[in-house]
Amino acid sequence: MGKILDYDEMNEILDNFDSKIIRKEKPIGYTYFGLPIDHYVYGHGKYHVIITGGTHSSELISNVFVLRFMEKLCTREINIDDNLYTVHFIPIVNPEGTVIVTSAIRSLIPRDISEEEEQTYFLTYYRNCYIEGDYANRYGDHGYKLQQMMFRHAMPDILDDRYKLLKEYLKKLFKENDLPTGCMINWSSNGRGVDLNSNIECGEFADRVESGEEIHASLHLNNIKRNKLGPLGCPYFNEKGEIEKENEALFNFYNEIKTKYDLIGSFIYHSCGNIVYYLGGAEEENPWVSLTKKDEEENYNVAKVYADKIGYKLDGLEIYTTMDSKLKSLFPVTLLIELGGVRATPLSQFIDINLDGSDGNFKWVYSKIIESNTLAIMETLPIMVKVYERNRNI
Ligand SMILES: [Zn+2]
Repeated sequence: MGKILDYDEMNEILDNFDSKIIRKEKPIGYTYFGLPIDHYVYGHGKYHVIITGGTHSSELISNVFVLRFMEKLCTREINIDDNLYTVHFIPIVNPEGTVIVTSAIRSLIPRDISEEEEQTYFLTYYRNCYIEGDYANRYGDHGYKLQQMMFRHAMPDILDDRYKLLKEYLKKLFKENDLPTGCMINWSSNGRGVDLNSNIECGEFADRVESGEEIHASLHLNNIKRNKLGPLGCPYFNEKGEIEKENEALFNFYNEIKTKYDLIGSFIYHSCGNIVYYLGGAEEENPWVSLTKKDEEENYNVAKVYADKIGYKLDGLEIYTTMDSKLKSLFPVTLLIELGGVRATPLSQFIDINLDGSDGNFKWVYSKIIESNTLAIMETLPIMVKVYERNRNI
């Protein structure tokens, strides 16, 4: 068995967790094409925490990390005091995108593959992305992309008939928006082709799209347009301010937990970059909240514990053009963590070998991501409690 998990495999693992340790609640909402956004809970303590993965479905490592973390709790490999904490998990924030990207993966990489053989696909994919990034830089090349060509038979008709409506819609979208062959492997958006992180009511990026500007993604993805519904970057479906169902569900969920309980913080997982983003000071005015210097400092204090534990960089500067910046603004100490130092999602963060002579970022990528971020969460929870209590007593 390899390390990649497709949508069905993830759900099978999630459904088989010991329900005395992690219980499945009712979904926080449903996507446009009717897939549930599932919610799981560990513990019954006073302090509530939210952990999410897979906003961008091509960042598959973030789903797998959250799931493996939940599994460690179930097998008691790690222990969080369940009398003190209640941990909410949304391991698949963007189920439609996850169906699309993992169906593309399975069109080439079978489930029953040896770990070693699976690794060769990851390396090939990684190298192809880098070649294309280099060609984009050197020649301004916007043509075929080797990494998409690897997945050129992964077109919408490969989707299972359980997702019939999504499949029909995608066929139409590929045609109408002239989406590049093989780009399902790069799918970050939801099934409608809206990028959930870009999908907020304000922001300079949405203005640029509204004005009709043509905006290309960068490097090995530069044949994808961000101003059109498609694999990545597009901020809205019909008109600026139209919020997708996944974001509406997530925002309502955060609000509900904050209103009913003591929400002490949250962890939002993306990939990649080995960075912890927190809400610090920014030159622009925050459209949702005005943080005091003290709030910024506290956010920094928490983020620093996480980042120091595993050697990730810290970044507190904010441009308010993303859904995650809204969550960071409105809810206490929300950290956005970019897993892994290698780019080229969705496959490169699963590389797990020790290439002699390669730079440190490239060694045991997968194992380091899973193990170090597990430790970092454990280390960060107590400081989230401390900060929460400190601010409450003011
Ligand atoms: Zn992302």
